[in-house]
Amino acid sequence: MLFVDGVGLGERDPATNPFVRAGTPALRRLLGGPLAGREAVRTDLATLVPLDARLGVPGLPQSATGQTALLSGENAAALLGRHLTAYPTPSLQRLLAVRGLFVRLGAAGVQAALANAYTDGYFAAVARRRLRHGAITLNAMQAGVRLRDLADLRAGRAVYHDLTNAGLRRQGLEIALVSPEDAGRRLAAIARAETFTVFEFFQTDLAAHGRAGEPIEVIERYDRMLGAALDALDLGETLVVMTSDHGNLEDGRTTAHTLNPVPALLVGAGRDVLASRLGAITDVVPACLDLWSAPAPVPSA
Ligand SMILES: [Zn+2]
Repeated sequence: MLFVDGVGLGERDPATNPFVRAGTPALRRLLGGPLAGREAVRTDLATLVPLDARLGVPGLPQSATGQTALLSGENAAALLGRHLTAYPTPSLQRLLAVRGLFVRLGAAGVQAALANAYTDGYFAAVARRRLRHGAITLNAMQAGVRLRDLADLRAGRAVYHDLTNAGLRRQGLEIALVSPEDAGRRLAAIARAETFTVFEFFQTDLAAHGRAGEPIEVIERYDRMLGAALDALDLGETLVVMTSDHGNLEDGRTTAHTLNPVPALLVGAGRDVLASRLGAITDVVPACLDLWSAPAPVPSA
């Protein structure tokens, strides 16, 4: 599962939508066009389902409720009565502890990984309350999923959230730059070794808020990673799900979140079975979990 923060399905208009302007050969190969438009798309390679992120609650969808809704399959915004930005509150934390993806994968006996690399500086910032855990990090910790560190990153067993390690080098850490393609191949290698792997990319949302990089560059960097990851996976037995919590980057006319649907972009094994279950961001995790609740095949004699 590729969680890409703040990516909705916008207009097919290069003037407003950086996904239409950006060079995205991987996404275009999958979809026969850019990641844009609000209709479902099915090609030989991929299925795109627009997902509702508004969840019947007025206002602009936000990350804390959107990510909690995505991970838990529960309408977190309706529970709180509003869309909540940034980090899960105690009540959302409790919901994640019981219903969150990683917790339920653990209960189902499914080996799960969060492929992102975390630094000592990150944990120090959390300890000093300068940062708080986002929903995905928090839920992995709640489930006892090991958070990968710089040793994993140096050994190619993790991917930094910016894909290339450039941000780590700006922090003064001695670590080699990797290309987005290398990041994609490393992510694919992690996914091949695990049953369920999550990677979180949030520079899309930051770029849309004007807080990190140029939208076009961020999209193109992500696309290079995606193309290499897909090339390195056996899509006959692996399902790739790319999805988001709310729109933002797809509308360059505003730096705020949008009301647009978000993509469920499905590539590989079982994509049509999954696609038939999807209508809102709350549908993704329950549908994924059901992939493991089917009766085990009877071994042949
Ligand atoms: Zn945002």
